[in-house]
Amino acid sequence: MNNILTIHDLGKLFHTQDGEIKALESVSFDVKEKEFISIVGPSGCGKSTILSILAGLEEKSKGEINFSKNYTIGYMLQNDSLFEWRTVLDNCLLGLEINNNLTKENKEYVIKLLKTYGLEDFIYEYPSRLSGGMRQRVALIRTLATKPDILLLDEAMSALDYQSRLAISDDIYKIIKQEGKTAIMVTHDIAEAISMSDRIVVLSKRPAIVKKIYNINLTDKKTPIHNRKCKEFSKYYDEIWRDLDVHI
Ligand code: ADP
Ligand code: MG
Repeated sequence: MNNILTIHDLGKLFHTQDGEIKALESVSFDVKEKEFISIVGPSGCGKSTILSILAGLEEKSKGEINFSKNYTIGYMLQNDSLFEWRTVLDNCLLGLEINNNLTKENKEYVIKLLKTYGLEDFIYEYPSRLSGGMRQRVALIRTLATKPDILLLDEAMSALDYQSRLAISDDIYKIIKQEGKTAIMVTHDIAEAISMSDRIVVLSKRPAIVKKIYNINLTDKKTPIHNRKCKEFSKYYDEIWRDLDVHI
């Protein structure tokens, strides 16, 4: 399949009051259409910085980022940042309101997503009624509402407890696949990355370089929870764990 995004020699230097912080040394990888890519690396190595640059929230210091077309991007953060005083539906419509694009069709599309993904009974409820996993699903639907081509997920599940996390990664994965999206997910959870991804980009500690890129080939690959039981899973886990070189 064709590359929809090529990142070459991306570098980032932050200028702060205390001096310069080099977050990214040189990061290169490509992303294919409908691919699910994970970026793993030690805490503080520059993972979120890559997504911020891709989303246009930060300037790069060097390198090239080429999108093959004029793609739109949706960004989903760790903190679901739902507004407690807006209903689930109104939270999901926020992006459309901001873009001045709240048409009848778009609103119907959002309602359809909420119904399809198990939130039918909560459309007019407030976020406080929802479990952590449901809140993340709402946050994903809010991100999907503007119909982005590429989804950026930054530690989207990491605020949840282990059980909810497994369940919501399954949900999020299914939604992304069914809606035919391309996804770039940042996580520090190796198992989460292996269970969800087509490829994994492993970064070094800061300033980040790409240490390795893994193609995740699992026999009988299905959903994330199922994939954790595939026979190749632990081999990838051990290799990536070694790449990350975590000293404890
Ligand atoms: P990760 O997501 O891998 O944990 P980040 O991309 O958030 O890492 O940060 C990489 C490094 O860049 C860290 O040392 C962080 O403190 C620094 N950093 C991130 N954003 C800024 C900023 N806006 N200004 C200054 N330094 C920053
Ligand atoms: Mg981060």
